[in-house]
Amino acid sequence: MKALVLEKAGKIAIEDREFDETTGDNDVLIKIHSVGICGSDVHYYQHGRIGPFVVEAPMVLGHEASGVVLATGKNVTHVKPGDRVCMEPGIPDLNSAQSRAGIYNLDPAVRFWATPPVDGCLRETVVHPGAFTFKLPDNVSFAEGAMVEPLAIGMHAATKAGIKPGDIGLVIGAGPIGVVTALAALAGGCSDVIICDLFDEKLAVAANYEGLHAVNIKSGDLASKVAALTSGNGADVVFECSGAKPAIATLAQHAAPGATAVLVGMPIDAAPMDIVAAQAKEITFKTIFRYANMYPRTLRLLSSGKLRVQPLISQTYKFSESVAAFERAAAGNASDIKIMLEME
Ligand SMILES: [Zn+2]
Repeated sequence: MKALVLEKAGKIAIEDREFDETTGDNDVLIKIHSVGICGSDVHYYQHGRIGPFVVEAPMVLGHEASGVVLATGKNVTHVKPGDRVCMEPGIPDLNSAQSRAGIYNLDPAVRFWATPPVDGCLRETVVHPGAFTFKLPDNVSFAEGAMVEPLAIGMHAATKAGIKPGDIGLVIGAGPIGVVTALAALAGGCSDVIICDLFDEKLAVAANYEGLHAVNIKSGDLASKVAALTSGNGADVVFECSGAKPAIATLAQHAAPGATAVLVGMPIDAAPMDIVAAQAKEITFKTIFRYANMYPRTLRLLSSGKLRVQPLISQTYKFSESVAAFERAAAGNASDIKIMLEME
């Protein structure tokens, strides 16, 4: 079958590859429909590695996917051939201590699509465990189904923040993950979420959502915006989604006393922080690594209309144009949010 293969840093091509299509009793065979290009796919394309994960052999890219069920193993009852589905890309060992504790995303043995050496889903079909395959509600499109993966990160962050109804949120960084985190925080009960970045092009999409307040930290005044919305108290929940060292260093600045801060963005190396400023406000810090048990919730909110992600899909390319789509993604155009690929 055709697959988009990363040969090595800087070299991708659509190639004919063979895959084992044996569908086990608990598995589902799926024809891929839509795949979103993630920052991590682009990073592997450009650099051939992310931290300790190094591309040492050709690897299929892609992990944000939806498709149609072709066949199911005999133990799979929740989906049937013809159903539209989306897939959670991390497959843990269901017998691990972490899986048994409900934190399967932290299982050291997790196999995650397009994280070396595991092949991703930018190919015609995949075999996937039924437990990590979810039926799309009729009013959720394939593209929205593919968006569940990045949305699940925002949903996990919003859940960890312990949002209370009417909280004021602050999201630092308006990349795709920052925006989906802000949307999840609104859906999770925040009345208003301030989202800040250095680039107006990134903030433009966020500014179109009711309840989101976009602030450019170069040209605007973040402190006065936070003060205006919180009677000078500071944000109840803060989401660091930029991974930028200056933002991390000063994270406590715009937080309310007693606030919760969730570290979502990954700095490329050790990032110092003003600990005393955080202590003086007794800030509770949480971190996230991917997500667990977020797909069903995310699909319910998409179906209900409380999460709207259509405006985040900035371009759609055919699978045959994958290389051009990746080149566009690698160019880092600030107004591009999510580039979607569609199989033909
Ligand atoms: Zn992703």
